[in-house]
Amino acid sequence: MCIDNNNKNSRPVTPTEEDCCHSACDPCIFDIHKKLLEEYERKKKQNIKIWNVQNILCTYKYKDFIVVDVKKTSESYILLLLKYQENDFRSGRGILITPGQHVMLHLHDTTKPFTPISFTDNTIEFLIRLYSNGKFSMYLKNIKLGDIIRIRGPYGNFKYEKNSFQTIIMFSMGSGIAVMYPIAKSVVDNELDETKIHLIGGFQDISQIPLKKELQTLSDYWNFKCTLHISQLQDTCNLHAINIKSGRLDKKSVSEALENKVTSTTLILICGTHQFNSSIEQWVKCMNYMHVHIFE
Ligand SMILES: Cc1cc2nc3c(=O)[nH]c(=O)nc-3n(C[C@H](O)[C@H](O)[C@H](O)COP(=O)(O)OP(=O)(O)OC[C@H]3O[C@@H](n4cnc5c(N)ncnc54)[C@H](O)[C@@H]3O)c2cc1C
Repeated sequence: MCIDNNNKNSRPVTPTEEDCCHSACDPCIFDIHKKLLEEYERKKKQNIKIWNVQNILCTYKYKDFIVVDVKKTSESYILLLLKYQENDFRSGRGILITPGQHVMLHLHDTTKPFTPISFTDNTIEFLIRLYSNGKFSMYLKNIKLGDIIRIRGPYGNFKYEKNSFQTIIMFSMGSGIAVMYPIAKSVVDNELDETKIHLIGGFQDISQIPLKKELQTLSDYWNFKCTLHISQLQDTCNLHAINIKSGRLDKKSVSEALENKVTSTTLILICGTHQFNSSIEQWVKCMNYMHVHIFE
């Protein structure tokens, strides 16, 4: 049934009551269905045919994935690798996610959004921050290899076309880096994309920085630069190829990062807490940046 929804030329199938997990998810499968239907009607009207690839993932029905690896990557952060249960895996099908999109993970009685940092045809990897008082965090702390996590998605309307901007400035706080990393990687991996990226992340403590090696590898590319602001920096710290600054990511550091940039050819991406997102948005809009996307 789900295959039809992934064949973008077919009318999306209406979910049944049983497809809903009744956990007050946002978005709920019925919201998703409404959007898919609107999109389908719009495309039908315009007679647009788009790709016919079949995605394993489905926006309104959970698919079972097995936990195949859990690694601690820094204080409070884990890397979680999930593999698709292959009972209906066929050639010509695979996982399709656009960088920046997120999926919903369902475990026990709880559903939460997470952004894959990478994926293959049948595996997805997540960078996840564990909160000591978080419900889903608690479930993940006790997860074992072989356990099942259910996934539906992908969701998110961020779309990027190569060379559509000269520069992308990414502002992230904490786990918001999970959104920025796959976007940055997709740009530097594309030899035809000449966009320059500056990823500016905020963390409380040096010990919390995840993806250190991955960020250092990206920094080897001519068009990627990384600056991390550490609000509680005890000693001086050197991380090869990464610029470490002491103090919070504030208005002054935001305006310094945007100095000499051309507002019309710069894309600003923001991902952090609600307060972080709205502060950065306000500051950059005051500086006349109009291409701003917030992940929330
Ligand atoms: C679109 C989207 C994509 C996301 N992608 C990722 C991802 O890739 N990796 C990731 O780690 N997280 C991601 N998140 C956030 C993730 O869904 C939350 O961290 C998760 O909901 C925490 O769940 P919990 O049940 O453990 O904590 P909850 O029980 O929901 O919260 C418990 C406490 O934890 C703290 N807390 C929870 N969430 C946050 C937060 N975002 N910022 C600061 N403090 C918080 C608060 O103190 C809160 O009171 C994403 C969120 C959205 C909306």
